[in-house]
Amino acid sequence: MIDDLYQETILDHSKRPRNHHPMDDANRRAEGYNPLCGDKLKLYLKLEGDIVRDASFEGAGCAISTASASLMTESLKGKTREEALKLLDKFHELLTTDTPASHDLGKLVVFCGVRDYPARVKCATLAWHTLKSALTNGDETVTTE
Ligand code: ZN
Repeated sequence: MIDDLYQETILDHSKRPRNHHPMDDANRRAEGYNPLCGDKLKLYLKLEGDIVRDASFEGAGCAISTASASLMTESLKGKTREEALKLLDKFHELLTTDTPASHDLGKLVVFCGVRDYPARVKCATLAWHTLKSALTNGDETVTTE
């Protein structure tokens, strides 16, 4: 039951990704590439001081990478830089360890099933690697390699 719900959410976000558009007045941008699968994305952030006011992305990738970017941009808005980086750590933990999902993850728990498919973990984390780059370095391209 739960798995079905999770899959439905991922499918929904991959078919109709939220915040899927370029952002002209973004002050942070980063690009990510996952050569294993061919997923590419460009992330845009509007930071006001330390707060992520807006987040969007462009790109083409598989269902998992698109859904992950969609759900990530949704969950970033209103977060501080530090909160965003903490969320990244928790998301990474969710995908790579067997620890129970943290409640702080909200909708992002739908990706917990991905941990059983190591090749897909890079698809799910691509947007987050790109986020880290946008928050810490500014403009550059990251790969999941
Ligand atoms: Zn992929």
